[in-house]
Amino acid sequence: MALLLEGHRIDNWIDGRRVPPQNGNYLESIEPSYAKAWIEVPDGDAADVELAVAAARSAFEGPWRQLPAMARAGHLRSVAREVAEHAEELATIESRDNGSPIAEVSAGDLPAVCEMLNYWAGAADKLHGETVQISPGSFNFTIHEPIGVCGIIVPWNSPLAILAAKVGAALAAGNTVVLKPAEQAAASILTIAELFDAAGMPPGVINVVSGRGEVVGDALVRHPDVRKIALTGSGETARIITERSAPLLKQLTFELGGKSPNIVFADAELDRAIPGVSTQAVFTGSAGQVCVAGSRLLIHASIYDEVIDRIAKHVEASVRLGDALDASTSMGPIAFHEQLEKVKRYVEIGQKEGAELVFGARFGADNFAPGDALGNGYFAAPTLFRDAHNDMRVCREEIFGPVTCAIPFEDDDEALAIANDTPYGLASGVWTCDLKRAHRFVRDIQAGAVWVNAYRMIHWAAPFGGVKDSGYGRDSGLESLRGYQQTKTAWIDLH
Ligand code: NAD
Repeated sequence: MALLLEGHRIDNWIDGRRVPPQNGNYLESIEPSYAKAWIEVPDGDAADVELAVAAARSAFEGPWRQLPAMARAGHLRSVAREVAEHAEELATIESRDNGSPIAEVSAGDLPAVCEMLNYWAGAADKLHGETVQISPGSFNFTIHEPIGVCGIIVPWNSPLAILAAKVGAALAAGNTVVLKPAEQAAASILTIAELFDAAGMPPGVINVVSGRGEVVGDALVRHPDVRKIALTGSGETARIITERSAPLLKQLTFELGGKSPNIVFADAELDRAIPGVSTQAVFTGSAGQVCVAGSRLLIHASIYDEVIDRIAKHVEASVRLGDALDASTSMGPIAFHEQLEKVKRYVEIGQKEGAELVFGARFGADNFAPGDALGNGYFAAPTLFRDAHNDMRVCREEIFGPVTCAIPFEDDDEALAIANDTPYGLASGVWTCDLKRAHRFVRDIQAGAVWVNAYRMIHWAAPFGGVKDSGYGRDSGLESLRGYQQTKTAWIDLH
């Protein structure tokens, strides 16, 4: 694989080779730790999508579809090996491009990408249909077939992990894909695509077109040969895609945002809950740019002051803001300038709404000594509001940054009512030693995931996704294969 060098361009990956954008236009990709352009990626358009879809379609109708499942599995395993070999390089590219700390990307995302590819390889030859026993006079069975060309649209926050979850399932099920990475962080996806082909996948099985959502994403959504769109992104984009793909009746799955409640009961083990509701939930490596961020912190009134006090001490002692490529950094910058401005705006809104600032509300240079090169970067310090109300905008709208709002509650009914009083339903956390209470909350919280005495536990074997405005369909787990298949029923008359 060619090394991605600073100052270079990395072109689209179409039909097994690098292809410059047809319009000749590029976007600067900014390194958020320093707010400096470091590479260029294609600012492509419908012409590139046309080429990519044609390649994906011909790979689907040709070599890929004809392969036995074991051979598809073998290809996915080879890709996992290639990725493992280039893990350090891929982690560096992603960390530099989107600001996730290298320690987290190297130790978390890259090993997970390899595990996921192997998981999907294991699934590829276990795609069983069913026999349906209707009558002795007929033999009825189902076959789960691939859909065809799938358009996969990815956000900036964890591109490689999201790619592996979606592309792994799509390819295991026998589809081919055209990927659209986020314009703010396309480099790691543009790079990894080459490894699929280096591992021996037929050209055209995986294609990547970089560019803006309204241009490249839209062209994928409107293309008649793309039969399925899988998006990880915002609700706003999901609604636009739904509307624009309606004339073509495409299959859609959406992994969207959240405003997840993280609930600390009076009987919680606080030594575990304190990191669980702060550094693991929202003051994370990716600076809270995590869809499952526990951004509403519900605390029982009897321990409210103590928990807030302990969070402040824990965050002060353990969060180290810094260059994403520095191995000792525990929280990196916000991924790009507009997102930093959005986080700032919400912190101001919270203050105007009357939430009390416990710590944080520091941005950019305010986090560093004067003259520190990092002072230009898109940094936002962890920010905690207390005495927030669930009807404040900071408690209702997704901020996607290192900001959480503490809300007191008196009893279980009130905690549940606040937890569910949100348009979203992605994730939730419950901190309690009472087994019955834990089960009641697992039963009653409206969310795709409930973590008890844990937070942000995500595994490729466990289905992941939301309810309500957090989307539909699932990534990960065998269940997610169904999102990349269509069922055929056969009826053979035996008379
Ligand atoms: P976004 O919806 O703006 O962008 C996501 C992707 O969609 C990008 O590649 C973008 O270019 C593309 N896009 C934008 N407009 C498009 C259009 N009209 N047609 C087709 N594609 C289009 O989201 P974002 O703000 O970049 O990402 C953050 C959002 O993603 C947050 O809401 C976050 O919660 C969510 N997210 C969800 C999960 C999950 O698994 N549930 C994981 C990560 C992020």
